[in-house]
Formats: sequence, C-alpha cells, structure tokens
Amino acid sequence: MSKVEDFLTKEEEQEIVSAIRVAELNTSGEIRVHIEASSNKDDAFNRALEVFHSLKMFETKQQNAVLIYVAVEDHKFVIYGDEGINKVVPTNFWDTTKNTMQTYFKQGDFKKGIVEGVLKAGQELKTHFPWQTDDEDELSNEISKG
Ligand code: CA
Ligand code: CA
Repeated sequence: MSKVEDFLTKEEEQEIVSAIRVAELNTSGEIRVHIEASSNKDDAFNRALEVFHSLKMFETKQQNAVLIYVAVEDHKFVIYGDEGINKVVPTNFWDTTKNTMQTYFKQGDFKKGIVEGVLKAGQELKTHFPWQTDDEDELSNEISKG
C-alpha cells in the first residue's frame, strides 16, 4: 500500500498547512485535513466520522470544526462538519467546496484540490462563524495522515 508521502511532497504539504492558516483567518471554525490511501473497505463517510472523533475535533467551543477527509486511492473524499455548523447551514452548504475540490481532482491536481477546498471552506464558514479578535487556534493545522 502506498504511503501519503507518495501523494504529496513536503512542499505541497506545507502549502496545504498554509492554506489552513489563511482560511482560519476568515473564521472561528477549525479546519483539518486527513489524507490516507484508502478507507479499507469501510464506507468513506463512516471512516471520516471515525477520524473526526479520533482527532478529537468535537472539542471546539462552538462545535464548528470541519474535517476534509481524502482517501486517495479510493478516489473519495468527505467534508464533515460538526454539529454547530450543521445546525445553522443549509444541507447543501458544502457543495461549492466539494465542486471546487472535484474540479481539481479530475484534472489530477491533488494538492491544488485540497488547497482550494480548504480556502473555500474558510470563505463559506465566514458567513456563519466570522473570525473574532479573541480567536484561538483550537485544533492543529498540521495534516493528519492515515
Ligand atoms: Ca480558531
Ligand atoms: Ca487550526
């Protein structure tokens, strides 16, 4: 099985981390990215939920964390937002972010898909969860790897 290192160079990883930092300047929401080769026959959504919990992403004050989960070899990704987000947004809230990511993934630009997805998620969250002066970086910006 391939490793995450085969999908992204160190430089590309840093670009994604920077995008998370930039996105979180728009919103009090917390964005994390998890990348792995495959969800190993588990349904991608269930696996995303499992990762969300294992990263303790439910531990934000406003319950407004969002996980961008990518199973590279399965060609699947899931955007999973916490309850605080789901309570206030329409059900199709993540569609624009999904479409943005899909466009770049289809072009084979994996890194750009994630970077643009992260930035888009930040812009979308801004409407409902604007950045506040007392903002804390509640969750790590580093990429989580399966
Ligand atoms: Ca924050
Ligand atoms: Ca963060």
